[in-house]
Amino acid sequence: MDAKEIAERYEQVLERIASAAQRAGRRAEDVCLVVVTKGQPLEKVMAVVKAGARDLGENYPEEGVAKMDALGRADLRWHMIGHIQKRKARLVAERYAFVHSLDSARLAVRLERRAAETNRVLPVLLEFNVGGEESKFGWRAADESVWESLLPEVEAILQNPHLAVQGVMTVPPPVAEPEQARPYFQKLRRLRDFLARHFPQADWRHLSMGMSADYEVAVEEGATFVRVGTAILGARVYKK
Ligand SMILES: *Cc1c(COP(=O)(O)O)cnc(C)c1O
Repeated sequence: MDAKEIAERYEQVLERIASAAQRAGRRAEDVCLVVVTKGQPLEKVMAVVKAGARDLGENYPEEGVAKMDALGRADLRWHMIGHIQKRKARLVAERYAFVHSLDSARLAVRLERRAAETNRVLPVLLEFNVGGEESKFGWRAADESVWESLLPEVEAILQNPHLAVQGVMTVPPPVAEPEQARPYFQKLRRLRDFLARHFPQADWRHLSMGMSADYEVAVEEGATFVRVGTAILGARVYKK
């Protein structure tokens, strides 16, 4: 795939986001497209930046930092969207603009400490597993009867002065049809509303949900971040 095709695909995804927003009575500006560059070569990343992308998503802290350093641009926002191993907390707190994948109280403690050392406030989203798959990261929240039990940990995380919680994120189970992802997106939104009722003083504006296969449905259901990789950049060198 060449730079021209990447630019076309990028524009097409933006147009589809705008149409989905319109269908839902939302404004396209309220949805941020994060282009997921994990597993993609630098030339493709450069092509999508040239096409206008400024928000880029990576799953592996070091892989993303290598790209940041190679591109050497100050106008990009790098989003950490993958599970963060504890020894990578420092790198993430130092180098990433936004964390979508805060998935445990222990990780919050480490990110808080590292963000404090770096003298910054790190914007984070809480990752929830609303699909119930064993293999997924995030607090288990498929069953609404457990939501109440999540509140103490969420409350503790909200106390961290160097973490700015701004909403929630999910990676639903793979589905055959985009429409099948809708109930998961609706569940994440309900969970967000539940948390916002319990902690009205906190900021719950963001819903990070929707990937290449289902981002339009996610926008219809209120996504403020969609994370799209292969639909723009094509197949990755590794699968994940
Ligand atoms: C890889 C990944 C994406 C992007 O997936 P595509 O299907 O290529 O759009 C989005 N979110 C997360 C958390 C990912 O790991």
